[in-house]
Amino acid sequence: MKIIMLGAPGAGKGTQAKMIAEQYAIPHISTGDIFRANIKNGTDLGMEAKKYMDQGLLVPDELTVRILLDRVAKDDCRDGYVLDGFPRTIPQAQVLDKALEEIEDKIDFAIDVDVPDENIIKRMGGRRSCSKCGAIYHLEYIPPETEGICDGCQGELVLRDDDKPETVKNRLDVYHKQTQPLIDFYEKKGILKTVDGTQNMKDVFAAIVAILG
Ligand code: AMP
Repeated sequence: MKIIMLGAPGAGKGTQAKMIAEQYAIPHISTGDIFRANIKNGTDLGMEAKKYMDQGLLVPDELTVRILLDRVAKDDCRDGYVLDGFPRTIPQAQVLDKALEEIEDKIDFAIDVDVPDENIIKRMGGRRSCSKCGAIYHLEYIPPETEGICDGCQGELVLRDDDKPETVKNRLDVYHKQTQPLIDFYEKKGILKTVDGTQNMKDVFAAIVAILG
C-alpha cells in the first residue's frame, strides 16, 4: 500500500504516518527527517536544505525529488510506504506519478489531515523535538515523563528552529500557496480522503484505519 499524507505543518501527519507505518509494516518516509539527518551529519545536501528550512521555505524541488526517488527505490519500499511531507508541490507530485507509472504502479491513498490554522499555531508553539533522536513531544498534549528530556534516548528536547512562531507563520503561508493545491490534484484522481485532524491522536488514527482497511 502506497500512501501520501497531506496537511499543514503541525497538523499531526507525522505522528499519524509513524502509526500507519507500524500498523501496516511499511516504511515511514519523511523528507523533513531526511533533511534533518543530513543537517546533523553536516552533508552538502544538509547545508543546502538548511538555508531554506530555517526560513520556513521549501527546499527546491530538484533536490527534494532526487532524495525521495532514491529512497522509494530501495528494497524495503517494494510492498509500499507512507510518505510524510512529500509531495509538497504540484511538480513534486507529477514527478512521483511519472516515476510510479514507469513501473506500472500508483499511489493508493492521499490522506489529508485537516486542521484549521488557529489550532496549528497553538500546537506548534508547544512542540518540542528531541535533539538526539528526533522524537516529537508537546508540552500540553504529549509531555515527556521528565521535563525537557526525551523518554526514549534521554536527549535534550528543543524547540526546532522551524517551529518558532515567525517561521510557523511563513510555513503556513507556504503551505496554502504551494501545498494546498495538492488536495485538488488528488481529489481529481479520486484517491483523496479527508480526516478531521482536530480530534485526539487515537481518534484520528481510527479514522485513518477505517479508510485504509
Ligand atoms: P517537515 O518535517 O515535513 O515539516 O519539513 C521541515 C522542512 O523541510 C520544511 O519546512 C521544508 O523546508 C523542508 N521540506 C520537507 N519536505 C519537503 C518537500 N517535500 N519539499 C520541499 N521542502 C521540504
